[in-house]
Amino acid sequence: MACGNEHVDLLNLDLASLALQLKAWGIATAHAGHLRRYLYRDGVRDFAAMHELPPRVRAQLAESATITTFAIERESRADDGLTRKYLLRLHDGRQIETVLMRTGRRTTVCVSSQAGCPLGCVFCATGQAGFDRNLTAGEIAGQALFAQQVLRDAGAVRNDGAPDRVSNIVVMGMGEPLLNYDAVMTALDNLCDPGGLAIGFKQVTISTVGVVPGIFRMASERRPYSLAVSLHGATQTDRLRLLPVARTWSLEELMDACRRYAAALHRKIFFEWTVIAGENDGAEHAAALAELLHGIPAQVNLIPLNPTTGYAGSTAADSAVATFRELLQASGIKVSIRQRRGIEIAAGCGQLAASPNA
Ligand code: SF4
Repeated sequence: MACGNEHVDLLNLDLASLALQLKAWGIATAHAGHLRRYLYRDGVRDFAAMHELPPRVRAQLAESATITTFAIERESRADDGLTRKYLLRLHDGRQIETVLMRTGRRTTVCVSSQAGCPLGCVFCATGQAGFDRNLTAGEIAGQALFAQQVLRDAGAVRNDGAPDRVSNIVVMGMGEPLLNYDAVMTALDNLCDPGGLAIGFKQVTISTVGVVPGIFRMASERRPYSLAVSLHGATQTDRLRLLPVARTWSLEELMDACRRYAAALHRKIFFEWTVIAGENDGAEHAAALAELLHGIPAQVNLIPLNPTTGYAGSTAADSAVATFRELLQASGIKVSIRQRRGIEIAAGCGQLAASPNA
């Protein structure tokens, strides 16, 4: 909760903890609402500029608290500026990537949950680069707030002339969010709170590659966020070839957890399928997937493989992806093909690596 200089990062605190912390500093908890508005809505990062707080409170905060900020190492743009990838430096020098995507009515920020990733999925640049550490709640929420500030600074407007704002959050950046469960949930709860960015729960998607205990925990805690499960293979053998995590949690355990989540939340689950030529794009794979998902409220998102230097597999042909979709649809499964965004700036799924040259 405290950073190196023992200042407390306010973005690490949930509502209840913030009130307790203010109390501990001798600050009336009645100031929590104003403070949260400055932190989340207005993006104020200088306590001296929080004019609606009494001077004594501002002074106390300046002495004891801090607010996550990032240094922008690099910005890359694609899709006529509608996709932007940011390489951000954390207070300890580590680097993460955050992607901002504007499509139609949606403005989505893809946030990282870890610096690096320990899971090593074979086609993922983050996994190929190894693991540094978990991000704090403040560093996770801070990426969405950073994106909001980018939009504000640019004076971005929507088609109807209203100021553009972050409408969707996907925790699909660097790292496995369910290995950093508490920080991810604190960050998302803060962002979705009406006193935060007031983002709808259903506009938030957490993507896991199959960390079974985390899915069970989401189910038992009735976490209202959308769940995306990166499947990529419909048999244990197929998953083992691509995803080392399948050694820890088998496909059978994963599907049990998915059924529990769907029953507890009455929500469909998004199943992500990176389509790799000759690996998982055949009719037999589609049939196995349809059978696996039988009885589960599901939508399959097909993601044509994005290139990374550490994996030799190649993207399935458009025709193969289309056929795969038709086969699933014929089995009654909802399917979408993920629009490819930001590939040339390595901002697509599986491409984030915080590499200076990416
Ligand atoms: S796909 Fe996700 S879980 Fe797998 S290595 Fe990459 S970041 Fe980690």
